[in-house]
Amino acid sequence: MEITAITAFPRQVKLKTPFKLALGELRDITTLIIKIETDDGVTGYGEASPYAPVNGETNETEQAALPVFVNALTGCDPRNLEQVHARMDVVMAGHTALKCGIDTACSDILGKAASLPLWQLLGGHSHIVTTDITIPIGTPTQMVASARTYVAAGFTALKLKAGDNEAADIAAINAVCAAVGPTISVKVDANQAWTVSQTLRIAAQLRAPNLIAIEQPVPDWQLLSLPLLRAQSHVALMLDESIHNAHDAADAIRLNAADLINIKLAKSGGLFGAAAIDATAAAAGVPCMVGCNAETRLGTAASAHFIAAHENVHYGDIDSFMLLAETDWLSGGFTSDGPTLTLSDRPGLGVDVRL
Ligand SMILES: [Mg+2]
Repeated sequence: MEITAITAFPRQVKLKTPFKLALGELRDITTLIIKIETDDGVTGYGEASPYAPVNGETNETEQAALPVFVNALTGCDPRNLEQVHARMDVVMAGHTALKCGIDTACSDILGKAASLPLWQLLGGHSHIVTTDITIPIGTPTQMVASARTYVAAGFTALKLKAGDNEAADIAAINAVCAAVGPTISVKVDANQAWTVSQTLRIAAQLRAPNLIAIEQPVPDWQLLSLPLLRAQSHVALMLDESIHNAHDAADAIRLNAADLINIKLAKSGGLFGAAAIDATAAAAGVPCMVGCNAETRLGTAASAHFIAAHENVHYGDIDSFMLLAETDWLSGGFTSDGPTLTLSDRPGLGVDVRL
């Protein structure tokens, strides 16, 4: 089987309501859908959802870089993921969101060629995945109201965005934790907005037994300060923006810098790189979460298949599709009921894409 064409389709999708986090406010997203065709007639799809503040890519840079990868991959067997990545990495470093779209489309083809759903082909742990739901930065009253609505809808894990205002963050986190009670787990994501001393000060004021982790409180490059932070804080530390690949994960683990790692396919260049991070973390006894960029159902399906295949992934944070308005060009992959995603038993990603 050989790749004969790789085509990109930019698609703008509106959010149901604007979403505020420490890095800015989102109202709509522009994502890029990758279609890979083969000489066997098998076609695969993947999502290359860029996020410039974290991995330096936009829809425009992805489209500018794509011809380089088309040149490198035309004629390559898409089922040989090791070779696909070697060919991509030798012609261009970085560009992990675009590589994720290509990797995911190749993985979709792999599943279709094997007549197996991807989760089973990758390891086959379970076809049911749960996700938390993310609550954007707001007033404590707004965040408590959102939390109560989601808990009533069946969600048992919440992720609170923070990092705009220290006093408001503390008030909101404590108010939400108290309002939802001890059976609902809460994570806080400051998206690099705090300093080390600020994180320690804030963590000391959080009175919540159900708070299970603070995610990436400090800038991504401050790995060396994290062992001290972990030693002095009672809250587990999850790394997100600091971890893009297995090398980053190995460094963090050697330094005792992480209790948990947030894998995102758009940071790791797709499922292939994500598996390397997870294996590195699993070998050191560090559980992972799988998060997401602002991805549609297509990217979400890829993440859900990955979670479903990897037991060391203890948490899912793949709720972005719930925040987006419905699109008429995507369906399938999984069904969702509150926090529960049940993967389709169709081959590959199981997603219908009508471009
Ligand atoms: Mg994060």
